[in-house]
Amino acid sequence: MQKANSDQQGVLYVVATPIGNLGDITQRAIAILSSVDKVCAEDTRNTRKLLTHLGLKKNLVALHDHNERQKIETIAEWLAVGENLALVSDAGTPLISDPGYHLVKALREMDYHIVPIPGASAIITALSVAGLATDKFSFEGFLPAKEAGRKQALQLNSESAYTQVYYESSHRIVHSVATMLDVFGTEKKVVLARELTKLYEQFFHGTLAELHQWLLEDTMHQKGEFVIMLAATEKKDTESDRFESSTEQLLSILVEELPVKQAAKIAAKLTGKAKNTLYKQAMTLQKNQK
Ligand code: SAM
Repeated sequence: MQKANSDQQGVLYVVATPIGNLGDITQRAIAILSSVDKVCAEDTRNTRKLLTHLGLKKNLVALHDHNERQKIETIAEWLAVGENLALVSDAGTPLISDPGYHLVKALREMDYHIVPIPGASAIITALSVAGLATDKFSFEGFLPAKEAGRKQALQLNSESAYTQVYYESSHRIVHSVATMLDVFGTEKKVVLARELTKLYEQFFHGTLAELHQWLLEDTMHQKGEFVIMLAATEKKDTESDRFESSTEQLLSILVEELPVKQAAKIAAKLTGKAKNTLYKQAMTLQKNQK
């Protein structure tokens, strides 16, 4: 159960902010930011600009990767005495490749009342227009900075049946796409979203080889913030899949004509598979055929 009293005191609001276009701030986000006692922000200068744009003057507290764990106790104390707090990051949804995880985890374990105020996030914004499968996707965040680590991370996903989503910055976009090319091959389908919701918003779709070429042909294409989305690997029938299905076909013909035991014995001789396994399989097939 969450610690919450009726007049909603001692609440941490995790507030999403725009990823570029300030018009994407939600009405709830504005209402919460104007009502809370303090705003915990990844970079107080950035958040001050947003608050000034909204006409708000608030008490700001820095909460970033380097001080997050040390701040947990203080924040818990503020909540305990009934203060309402907002957590924001520089852009988008806090905790999504941004600070906040350690704080939220600790406060949830202490049963504090934590309320999400949803809004923009680059991953969902990009996926919503990519035209890649969205029934299953994996969010991979940022790749390691060094080539070896990056390659290793990508190799783990080389057979992924999910659409893969990566975040990338202008400094590393060319390197990351080059490593992807190396691991996934030239023909892998990719969609790149650049500068989402901003003036120079742009999308590229094609193969990894084409994307690499496109990035190199104009340095402007390398500027800004990126979401890289790789299409899922299509499952090819492996030799063992094919063997399994031909064994099943054989067994189903045999059980139509022969007793199960004899069908399994003949199938075992023909395929070299264990008689017991085939017997069980033949029993199931026979039941299904009835
Ligand atoms: N919390 C953010 C979210 O909810 O998407 C992500 C923060 S992470 C530090 C910053 C990365 O998100 C960028 O390097 C880029 O990969 C992606 N990103 C953020 N804003 C973006 C935008 N407007 N266009 C494209 N990618 C963006």
